[in-house]
Formats: sequence, structure tokens, C-alpha cells
Amino acid sequence: MKNKLFLLAAVLFVGALGGCGNSPDDDKGSADATDTSEAKLKVVSTNSIIGDMVEKVGGDLIDAHSIVPVGTDPHEYEPLPEDIRKASEADVVFYNGLNLETGNGWFDKLMETAGKAEDEDYFVVSKNVEPLYLSRNSSQQDPHAWLDISNGIRYITEITRVMSEKDPENKTAYEKNADAYIADLTELDSKAKKEFADIPEQKKLLVTSEGAFKYFSQAYGLQAAYIWEINTESQGTPDQMKQIIERVRDSEVPVLFVETSVDPRSMERLANEVDLPVYSNLFTDSVAEEGEDGDSYYDMMKWNVEKIHEGLSQ
Ligand SMILES: [Zn+2]
Repeated sequence: MKNKLFLLAAVLFVGALGGCGNSPDDDKGSADATDTSEAKLKVVSTNSIIGDMVEKVGGDLIDAHSIVPVGTDPHEYEPLPEDIRKASEADVVFYNGLNLETGNGWFDKLMETAGKAEDEDYFVVSKNVEPLYLSRNSSQQDPHAWLDISNGIRYITEITRVMSEKDPENKTAYEKNADAYIADLTELDSKAKKEFADIPEQKKLLVTSEGAFKYFSQAYGLQAAYIWEINTESQGTPDQMKQIIERVRDSEVPVLFVETSVDPRSMERLANEVDLPVYSNLFTDSVAEEGEDGDSYYDMMKWNVEKIHEGLSQ
């Protein structure tokens, strides 16, 4: 009712200013209180995982854009002119932090170009996460916190808080969406915590290309092994190959895995060397293409938990 009164007042005001001939069709270019797309909160996310969380909380109430394309590595990226335009126009920008978007400093540069300020215009979704550090370089944080679903829930809580603050009119709707979403994720997290209890200890090794599964392994009771530790390193060097071959041979792990957002050739080489199959794709730094298995944060985590369990049960 308040809105209707406001609209009526706005129309009367415009009418009074413009005199005659000021029908709504005549002023498409100007800001117009009746144009809902103009009024929607504009939210930009750095990658498809954060982008999906934002869309689950915001639904049709927001205008969302995700920067790094599906299936692409978010550690290093060159923003397109469209990304720069969307970031400049955004009311809110969300990024992962924890050393994810730092590869070529692309995110900091983008925020500078777009004229955005930290904690005013752009926000780190991992704010309430307990960080883990890289084992080969302990001063650097490991970015892949979302692979522990309880951290994903922390991201969603922070996204909901910021969006509600920026757009208080839709606070109740955002919180309602977030509550239902978090309930589903909490259930999946509990399932994942029990999932691997039936796998013998010497098989509980999760072998991937990038060492993206530290948070996941800590949460769900596995050990993580990898060829390279983070995508910004050189990938598949002779020294890295030697180390992972030894690690796999020392275990009784039955299968290997490869992520959708990396070059698969190093994992194929490892599979040949140790004579084990690559059991499945896993999702780490991106969701799947729309319409395919794993095309949301929830579905990619469900896929990861199920495929890793199936594989290690071989
Ligand atoms: Zn990564």
C-alpha cells in the first residue's frame, strides 16, 4: 500500500513538472519509479559458485552477474569489458578472498578500475571462515573453503547479511530463501560427515590435480593428495609427479579423480604411471554448465560426496 501511494505521488510529481505529453512511454531513458529492473539490487560475484549462492538467496529480486565463466579457473582471469561495466554499475560485489582471486591480481585491479571500496561496495564471503594454509607455503591461505559445506553456509549467511543491509525492503525475502537453502545444505553436510565411515583407512586418500580438498578432507575424514597444491603454481612438474607417484604407491587407494576446471593431462599421466583409473570428474572451482549434473553449489557438493564415496569403495 505504501508503495502504491509512493508511485501515485511520483506520477503526480512528474506530471506537474513535465506538464502535458508525459505518458510513461515518452521517457524510457529517464529513471522511473515504475521500472522495477532499475530498482533491483545489482549483485556481481567473482565466480559461478558464489554466483549460484547469490541467486539462491536473491531469486528474482536481484539482477545478478558472475564474472569467471563456468568451467574456468578463477585463480587467474582477465576481466572482459562486460565484467568491468557490470562491476562499475554493481550495488554489491562478492568475492571469495583467502587467496583465490589473487593469481594475476585481477580482482584488486578490477575493483580499482570500477572505483569500488572494500566493505562498502565489495565484500569477502569467507569472512567468518577459519582459514587453512598451504603446506608448501605456509604464509599463504588455501582458498577452497567452500568445499566444506559448513563453510559454504557461512558464505551464504554473509551474502544474506550484506544483501539485506543494501536492500532492507527485501530483507525478509532474502532471509526466508537463505533459511530454506541452509536447511538443505545442513542435511547434506550431515550426510557427508557419515559417508566415508565404511572406507578402510588405507584407501581414504583423495587424489586430485590441484590440492583443493583440504577443507573437504578435514570436514569429512579423508586425506587429500595432489599433483600441485594451487592452480597458480606450475602444474605437473617432474618433482611434483615424483612426489605424488610415491604417495599413491604408499597407499592402497583404488582410484584417482580429476577436477572439471583444470587441464586433465597431468592426471592422465599420473593414472598411466600408477596404473589406476581416473574414476570421475569432481567440481572444485566452478559449478557445471547449466542443465548438467553439478550445475549448482548444492548439486556439485552432492556429486563430489557421492562420486568420491563410490570411487573409494572400489
Ligand atoms: Zn582452485
